[in-house]
Amino acid sequence: MSKNKKKIANQNSGLSIEEELRDLRERCALYEAWLRALDEYVDCDLWFKDADSHYLYVNKRFENIIGFSREQLLHARPEDIFDEDRAQRVRALDKKVMDENGLRRVVPCGTGSRIEMHDELRFPVKNDADKIIGLGCLAFEVTKQSIAEEALAQAQSLAQLGNWRWSLQDRCLISCSEEFAQILGCDIQDAFAVMHKRLEKVVHPDDRDRLEHCLKDAKRKAIGYKIEYSIIRADGEVRHVMEIGEPLLSSQGNVVEYIGTLQDISERKQIEEELICAKQDLEKRVEERTAHLKYMAAHDNLTQVLNRKAFTENVLHRLKTKSDEQSQIALIILDLNGFKGVNDYFGHDVGDKVLQTVAARIQNALPLDAYLSRIGGDEFAISIFGENDLRSSCERLCDRMTNSIQDMIHIDGLELFIGSSAGIHISDKNEFDLETALKFADIALYKTKQNRGVHFAFFEDKMAAEIEYYRTLEGDLRKALAQNEIYIVYQPQVLSSNYEVVAYEALARWNHPKYGTISPDIFISIAEDRGLIHELGEMVLHQCCLDLPKLQKINSREIKISVNLSPSQFHIPEMVTSFKTTFEKNKVPASSFIMEVTESLFIKNLEHTRATLEKLREMGVTIALDDFGTGYSSLSYLKEFKVDCVKLDRAFVKDVVDSKPDQRIVEGIVTLVKNLGLEVVGEGIESEEQLAYLHSVGCQKIQGFYTGRPQKVEDLVAFAK
Ligand code: C2E
Ligand code: MG
Ligand code: MG
Repeated sequence: MSKNKKKIANQNSGLSIEEELRDLRERCALYEAWLRALDEYVDCDLWFKDADSHYLYVNKRFENIIGFSREQLLHARPEDIFDEDRAQRVRALDKKVMDENGLRRVVPCGTGSRIEMHDELRFPVKNDADKIIGLGCLAFEVTKQSIAEEALAQAQSLAQLGNWRWSLQDRCLISCSEEFAQILGCDIQDAFAVMHKRLEKVVHPDDRDRLEHCLKDAKRKAIGYKIEYSIIRADGEVRHVMEIGEPLLSSQGNVVEYIGTLQDISERKQIEEELICAKQDLEKRVEERTAHLKYMAAHDNLTQVLNRKAFTENVLHRLKTKSDEQSQIALIILDLNGFKGVNDYFGHDVGDKVLQTVAARIQNALPLDAYLSRIGGDEFAISIFGENDLRSSCERLCDRMTNSIQDMIHIDGLELFIGSSAGIHISDKNEFDLETALKFADIALYKTKQNRGVHFAFFEDKMAAEIEYYRTLEGDLRKALAQNEIYIVYQPQVLSSNYEVVAYEALARWNHPKYGTISPDIFISIAEDRGLIHELGEMVLHQCCLDLPKLQKINSREIKISVNLSPSQFHIPEMVTSFKTTFEKNKVPASSFIMEVTESLFIKNLEHTRATLEKLREMGVTIALDDFGTGYSSLSYLKEFKVDCVKLDRAFVKDVVDSKPDQRIVEGIVTLVKNLGLEVVGEGIESEEQLAYLHSVGCQKIQGFYTGRPQKVEDLVAFAK
């Protein structure tokens, strides 16, 4: 304005005073018109003050925003309109504007409810001599932008988002926010220097190439980019950041600048990494658990060998997939001898440990490509593959397994021995059928068990016929009882001193219509399995009652009949009462009977056994312990269960004449038993020498082929005559 004034004055130099006044008035009117126009049309605040801060001009908008009228403001000093504190601040600001040749700032402005953000420019006003004679202010309202910018800044600060602007031409930072500098770990001033060499100074060496490549690529294609990388801050701390950049294009379409954000995502990254670790950990655990479940589903819990289902699957799979030269497959069933006794006598915990030990021993003996499974309580199935010499491989394997199983087993301070039997079935791979193989191996096993001293047998076709024999007997026994095919033979028990008969042992026989005479060793166990043992026992006792008078007559004296009781009969609650009824019906005294029981009876249901034996004794029956020495003999039973007589098993008698150890055993048993006040009956005496020996050691009674084979009562009667 001062320049304009000067110009007008110069133009008008040399005019008369009136002309000059008129000119001045015109110019004043012109200025007023301009000011009015400013007042009316320009949406900004405008004021002027003199050097002493008196308002010289205020426009209407300013009047409104400051809350004082133009009349109040014009020629007023700050002290006239504001309180002292504010007046001082206003003066100080005016002075600063004049001293510093202007000030640009965004400030809140207004009173009471109306506060606006003003982007104001305050400037000094100078006269022709360049002396400051006052100051002016031009202010635009920027409330909306300010709020938006502030919100953005706040949001960026909260999100730890720094912003920046980069000149491609100058290769330097043009501007950046405080957050940006904070992320880099420096002051805002240092950020410019740091960014100048950021690849070397900030970016982690591992990420430099990647970032450089990304920036170059974005620049070349004039596109935005987004990249995560690590930085090393001045204090050495490594942070993870995400940078987003967008190109700014010139009017010619060239990328001149990039603007963007930088965010510290270290925490997020750490959480992500922790989540990834947790996920991996979880996946690992799920995997382990699944593997464990799979394992459990395929293995026997106790021994950890394959279960039957997995065994079947593995064998069939192997047969299907392996087209190797091994053309034959052998299926072996191995069964432990007397395992039931281990369980009954030592308890299931010991039994379980025996099975575990045995399973491990079998596994160790097997070739690598064999499969092993526990298919029953103490039954294992093994499959091996081979060529033509599979038979001899099986023999060697069975020997290895048998020897290994037979080694002493140490369990909880116990020293146990257990034997095993095996049945083997070999077939060509193409003809293999698992069910049939199992059946035939089982038949071979059965055969092994029948032959003492044999540990394994191969299946032979004729065995099938033998099994057929057993199956037939099983089916026929009930009919046999009904049709009186079972009869009794009597074997005498004599005094070793003079051979006088004192008793007869009643031994059952089965006269089968097709197979002839069948041994009780075979059909007693069938009767036990089929629940016919009680019926059979009753029938035997009844027949004995009928035969007793005949036998007494032959001997012209009181003799007793010794009847065998199966342990299964003890499970029948009415056993004792039904015996009593039989005796009463037949009018024979119970005291004429000896009941033979075996040691296995003492292993289970001790109380019940004791009570039942007691009832039999009360009735007058004599109790004999049969086959003594073959089971888990314990002399304490003899006292505890109150037996009257012990029958020494023929296994001890067989070689007693020549075997010193057997002699020592027999002498020991006889002495001990007699010391307990019990009688001893020697069984299985086949020679005079055996008899003489037993007599010499004090065995009072004997029974055996030497003194009499088992015979029908009719034959005995006929012989006596
Ligand atoms: P056990 O009670 O030990 O009967 C003795 C067995 O030895 C009988 O066999 C008998 O014939 C046989 N024997 C007797 N003296 C000699 C000998 O000098 N040398 C040889 N080698 N053997 C001899 P058996 O009759 O075959 O009976 C076998 C087993 O069947 C019996 O053994 C007994 O435990 C059981 N048994 C027999 N009859 C019955 C019965 O009616 N009921 C029950 N529950 N079991 C019975
Ligand atoms: Mg007997
Ligand atoms: Mg016996």
